Amino acid sequence: MFVVFTESDRMRVERFKQSTREKLRGVRCPDHHQAPRLHFHGVSLDEITISLSGCCARLMELANAQIALAEPAEAEMRKPA
Ligand SMILES: [Zn+2]
Repeated sequence: MFVVFTESDRMRVERFKQSTREKLRGVRCPDHHQAPRLHFHGVSLDEITISLSGCCARLMELANAQIALAEPAEAEMRKPA
């Protein structure tokens, strides 16, 4: 079975990635002054997952909290038009 992603699927994924990066833009570890690294897995919005890596647990906590902040907006975005 072929799965075809339309241009709009890809754009929505790009937008999701973009907005997630935006959210983490100002996040730095207070101890090591490192930015978190962001990895995306999956090619559609339904299956995309985010993984984070960084210098320590504290940074991961900050980054996760930052991402969690915007979840209502994402849920909004997922609603079928
Ligand atoms: Zn750190």
